[in-house]
Amino acid sequence: MDFDIKKIRNDFQILSQQVYGKPLVYFDNAATTQKPQCVIDKITEFYQKYNANVHRGVHFMSAKCTEANENARNIVKNFINANHSHEIIFTHGTTESINLVASSFGDRFITKDDEIIISELEHHSNIVPWQLLCERKQAKIKVLPFNDKGELIIENLETLISKKTKLITLNHVSNSLGTINPIKKIIELAHSHNIPVFIDGAQGVQHQEVDVKELDCDFYAFSGHKIFAPTGTGVLYGKEKWLEQMPPYQGGGDMIDIVTFENTTYNELPFKFEAGTPNYVGNIAFGKALEYVNSIGIENIAKHEKELLDYGTKKISQIENLTIYGNAKNKTSVISFLINGIHPYDAGMILDKLGIAVRTGHHCTQPVMDHFNIPGTVRASFAFYNTTEEIDILYEGLLKVVKMFNS
Ligand code: PMP
Repeated sequence: MDFDIKKIRNDFQILSQQVYGKPLVYFDNAATTQKPQCVIDKITEFYQKYNANVHRGVHFMSAKCTEANENARNIVKNFINANHSHEIIFTHGTTESINLVASSFGDRFITKDDEIIISELEHHSNIVPWQLLCERKQAKIKVLPFNDKGELIIENLETLISKKTKLITLNHVSNSLGTINPIKKIIELAHSHNIPVFIDGAQGVQHQEVDVKELDCDFYAFSGHKIFAPTGTGVLYGKEKWLEQMPPYQGGGDMIDIVTFENTTYNELPFKFEAGTPNYVGNIAFGKALEYVNSIGIENIAKHEKELLDYGTKKISQIENLTIYGNAKNKTSVISFLINGIHPYDAGMILDKLGIAVRTGHHCTQPVMDHFNIPGTVRASFAFYNTTEEIDILYEGLLKVVKMFNS
């Protein structure tokens, strides 16, 4: 398909509105993405016509929702090229997927004095659940550092690995710096030591092709809302061999086989990990969002976003006293920056009044900010529906910010 930006933007009505009388420039896509009309329509369609709880009903509408929910699972499976649809667990998002593994894998496989390696680039969601696990089990966290460009120092990994290492966990892409981590290389190295690898893909899947079979990762987690799907949806991919061995995460309806007061047996995968009524309408719309991404083509998305990144980096670098944080060779469309003497929050507030939505602060990556000894950054993050004209507006906006602070 041709990449027709005008047509694409028409699918996202929200982008054509004005805020404070200015055309909206939405550059907060790493926090959440906008939803195409087909996704919004899918939600409406199911609530208008078919809504009924899944898995338990014999009637028409329940069967319809059940089928659509399982079809969505299959779409996810194909999207990341998993072996089986039962390796796809629906969750509320990346955070829940990480907590699920930290709790369940942790209960089964982590014991006193074991070690988990995480990277210094992680979102708090991929730090705190492992810390809680390590506190519970008296295990230990080791940290793989990054250099000042924002690239992981892979050569250090071998020295961090020991006989006690039970898991390596890191993100595919850093949300605050945009670094694309060499996860395939890390997975290969980890596997040569028989260590499984968990990938936080919250910023990965929406920017590039992800093939879990090719990567050979043991787990891969992502959030629906960051890939044009509704909030409250997410995925945990896990290799069957791990999921089969892991105990349930939460107890409740659907995750059981037979319940008596003496003993309970559990449902098969993936339902063992999906206690209670799932967000089936959300999941169905999630499937639609992935079909939409497929219709544009992830390679077209990657190409356009790379153009935006290159254009934006060049343009914004022209501003005096501006420092970009995160200059990795492999980057997604995220530009994190600071202008000397201007607090990121102040810059963000002024840009907001100009209709430009950026994020300011530590982006839930305080260790990354500590590395650079800064309180936070201004982050502009682009999606495939953004344009170079919008980057020009950001540039003009930043000139105004500078002028206001200099006067
Ligand atoms: N990991 C990364 C790298 C993220 O960017 C985010 C969201 N900012 C998360 C985890 C958490 O995702 P969610 O809030 O959707 O669970």
